[in-house]
Amino acid sequence: MENQIIEMNSLLNKNSIQLSHLTSDEIGDEHISTGIDTPLLANAFEMSDADKIAKIEFHFKEIMETMGLDLSDDSLKGTPHRVAKMYIQEIFSGLNPANKPKIALFENKYQYNQMLVEKDITFYSNCEHHFVPIFGKAHLAYISSGKVIGLSKLNRIVNYFAKRPQVQERLTMQIAMELQSILATEDVAVILDAKHLCVSSRGIKDNSSATVSTFYGGKFNTEAVKQEFLKYIHLNTTY
Ligand SMILES: [Zn+2]
Repeated sequence: MENQIIEMNSLLNKNSIQLSHLTSDEIGDEHISTGIDTPLLANAFEMSDADKIAKIEFHFKEIMETMGLDLSDDSLKGTPHRVAKMYIQEIFSGLNPANKPKIALFENKYQYNQMLVEKDITFYSNCEHHFVPIFGKAHLAYISSGKVIGLSKLNRIVNYFAKRPQVQERLTMQIAMELQSILATEDVAVILDAKHLCVSSRGIKDNSSATVSTFYGGKFNTEAVKQEFLKYIHLNTTY
């Protein structure tokens, strides 16, 4: 199966797409999202993390028992607490703005106007339709408007947005919007190349496909600039 390539720029102005005409299975299997912002309740962060962990633990135990699992077994009895803690403190910690990485910029005195590329950033996320992993590589680039960012901070930004229930398109856009905002420039490119376990381990069970999503802002829409970026990351130029 050929890799699926998604151009994100066309989604920019469609921040709220109505999906009410689709069934929940159709939305999940096609991995359609409603917009760039993660849908959150107004009171999403009123409850403390400790209370969220206790509540998820209670409900996850119910799920396991509903499936017929015996939670008096020594191997299983700690699982609801482990899952709850993992959700809040690790794999979904990027939902909470309090966990957003603090970014310091510094003056770019010597490389003004050069392209900066950070490639092969490994990320782990989870599909918001099935709650199973999406994982892959992120490739980022920007042209400095006079400020530069520490390279490790680029990894932190990718991982902050990855640690949410996601769809790949939204993750691509959230990273791109954040970079444009922090760096005060439109000239940002983001490519995500990812595997979705909800495609390979269930549903159509396709093990070989990957999904590539791209965002090109500002000068990256110029063919020569785009090609320079693609050359650095050694990707097929049809991306
Ligand atoms: Zn999925």
